[in-house]
Amino acid sequence: MKKTITYTVLLLLITAGSFAQNERSANDHAHNPWYSNTDTTRLQVSNTEWKKILSADLYAVAREKDTERPFTGKYWKSTIRGTYYCAVCGNMLFRSDTKFASTCGWPSFYEPVRKTSVRYQPDDSYNMHRTEVLCGRCDSHLGHIFDDGPPPTHKRFCMNAISLNFEQDVKKK
Ligand SMILES: [Zn+2]
Repeated sequence: MKKTITYTVLLLLITAGSFAQNERSANDHAHNPWYSNTDTTRLQVSNTEWKKILSADLYAVAREKDTERPFTGKYWKSTIRGTYYCAVCGNMLFRSDTKFASTCGWPSFYEPVRKTSVRYQPDDSYNMHRTEVLCGRCDSHLGHIFDDGPPPTHKRFCMNAISLNFEQDVKKK
């Protein structure tokens, strides 16, 4: 009997936890007036404003160029078919077809959906010469691009998973 109660409590906790998580991610967008999967107009929103809307973790990566620890993000291993959007503004960034298994511990792609999906700027921080990849719509930091990717582009878009929002393809009936 005691065991059954323990299992029931555990199940309730798990259910409550997943509801809370769903509610939070839905609310993120509800409180984000700039989030759109279709509008490609460039945004000019101040960090003061983004700070009010984004979670602290996303703000640190997207707006302060922090990097999430490798092998910790939610998408690095994923092979599910779908589309990756900017977690800050909803801009369409990558298709799962261009994602490849990379050993670096971050989700990696060889090509963005559109040339204008992202923009680039030199990054000489930490005594390295790298090229930073930013969202083409809201200028949020996504990650870096390297020349060691697979064909056809031989590029590796090494992205922070937290900067991405994945939406799975709807299965055709
Ligand atoms: Zn964006």
